[in-house]
Amino acid sequence: MSDSDKKDKPDDGGTSFEDLLKNARIQFAYGMPPGMQQAAGDDEDEEDESEEQQQVLERIRDFHLKPREVKDYLDRFVIKQDDAKKVLSVAICDHYNHVRRCVEDPTVAEEEYTKQNVILLGPTGVGKTYLMRCISKLIGVPFVKADATKFSETGYVGYDVDDIVRDLVKVADGNTDLAQYGIVYVDEIDKIAGRSGNGGLRDVSGRGVQINLLKLMEDTEVNLQSQTDLIGQMQAMMDMQRGKSRKRSISTKHILFIVSGAFDGMAPIVRKRVQQSSIGFTEAAGAGPKDDHEVLRAVATPDFIAYGYEPEFIGRLPIRVLCEPLNADDLRNILLNSEGSILRQYKSDFEGYGINFTLDDDAIDEVAARAEKEKTGARGLMTVLEGILREFKYELPSTTVKELKVDAGTLGDPPGRIQTLMNESMDAQKDLLRGEVAAYTERFREEHGLTLVLDDDAVDLLVEKSLAVHKTIRALCEEHFRNFEYGLKLINRNIGQTEFTIDRATAENPDQVVSEWVQKSFSERQ
Ligand code: ADP
Repeated sequence: MSDSDKKDKPDDGGTSFEDLLKNARIQFAYGMPPGMQQAAGDDEDEEDESEEQQQVLERIRDFHLKPREVKDYLDRFVIKQDDAKKVLSVAICDHYNHVRRCVEDPTVAEEEYTKQNVILLGPTGVGKTYLMRCISKLIGVPFVKADATKFSETGYVGYDVDDIVRDLVKVADGNTDLAQYGIVYVDEIDKIAGRSGNGGLRDVSGRGVQINLLKLMEDTEVNLQSQTDLIGQMQAMMDMQRGKSRKRSISTKHILFIVSGAFDGMAPIVRKRVQQSSIGFTEAAGAGPKDDHEVLRAVATPDFIAYGYEPEFIGRLPIRVLCEPLNADDLRNILLNSEGSILRQYKSDFEGYGINFTLDDDAIDEVAARAEKEKTGARGLMTVLEGILREFKYELPSTTVKELKVDAGTLGDPPGRIQTLMNESMDAQKDLLRGEVAAYTERFREEHGLTLVLDDDAVDLLVEKSLAVHKTIRALCEEHFRNFEYGLKLINRNIGQTEFTIDRATAENPDQVVSEWVQKSFSERQ
């Protein structure tokens, strides 16, 4: 970058898009066991947030990203879903700008503000969770995902909705300051619609969960200790004994809630409403019947209510985004262009064994076509690739194969291709094994001071045996020549011989040959 370029670059106090990217290093893993975040006795950790977390907090409080920057970042990972990316980028920027302004000026926090909670609609595996994961990574805020079906209304049994907020604190390593700006993602929200499963009757438990979730989405304080979290309660008692007071609750005011679901069965509801409200104008107007996905674009609050949601609940989810189904072209694009592509993961797995793995264009097309048939979105890619590559991953690391080029032919017959690869590399494999025989005789010489000279036929015999019985040369030789040490030392003591030539016959029948050698050495000594 030239000096003039540098001057032109806006001074944003170190919170530019690139800085955020560079700095978004804290990896938030979710699913940590309860109570493991702060080991008792770890006083320094308990009292101070780590410096790294402090930096993340400061960045959130100084949030200056623009929607286009967020979208550009998402484009690197998430293929298609342009509408969702745009809407989410705006919602995210609005939300964290508001957070920043509340921190800068506490009077802003007093003003009325409607949170930008989002509802994502779309089939499984099309990137709904992935979008949110990428966003939380970019901003550096903790992220948790939960399934609405796991919530019980009372929380006496199983998981209650407040537990998600507690999980957010765990993911933030117990740092409530950080957790209060986190993102909560609740999937399968369509399963807690009141009408589900009982033919139009209100489902009381689904309604109860909606009401509980509603409280969370507004501004509420969640007690950090659940009634069922024994470790947490013990920790609190220990703190009290040590005279420490720890924050006991967390506000949900700045937590962003995203809910999502496939919403099977929603399209007919929308279709019916649209038809009723515009009799004679819609599909009769020459546009032809729309498919379910197209119809869903018109989804509106009355449809959610008809689906079984409480009006208050759906009212708290003002932003509705429809994610597109992925076709074979999109899946191909994901394999080739997403920075999070599963193909990259496979490449790096093979690289771990020094194997260069590539899929040619035809193979990519075929994988994408097979994955589309799975009807599980991009998850189908994983299923298909795993089915094809499982055997390669098992067999190739123990061979000398260093190149795995997968073409359409390979996809039709993975076992055949493995056999061919192994046959092709057989010469190299045999050389490798011959080297291992040499390493064995060298070890024998160092340990016992006796030299074994194996002729080529003897070496070949061992190599063939090793391949036939799937044993390493080391294990094979140690077992095969187990009586050599004793026998050859006796011979050495009798007649001073230090070098022993082993031909194929000896290698085939070592015990018998050595015993003959020993007898001979006794007679020679006399
Ligand atoms: P869901 O829509 O059910 O939440 P996910 O976001 O969990 O699906 O997708 C599963 C995985 O598939 C992701 O982790 C990601 O690797 C991949 N994936 C899904 N959709 C896309 C997409 N549009 N672009 C790139 N990768 C995707």
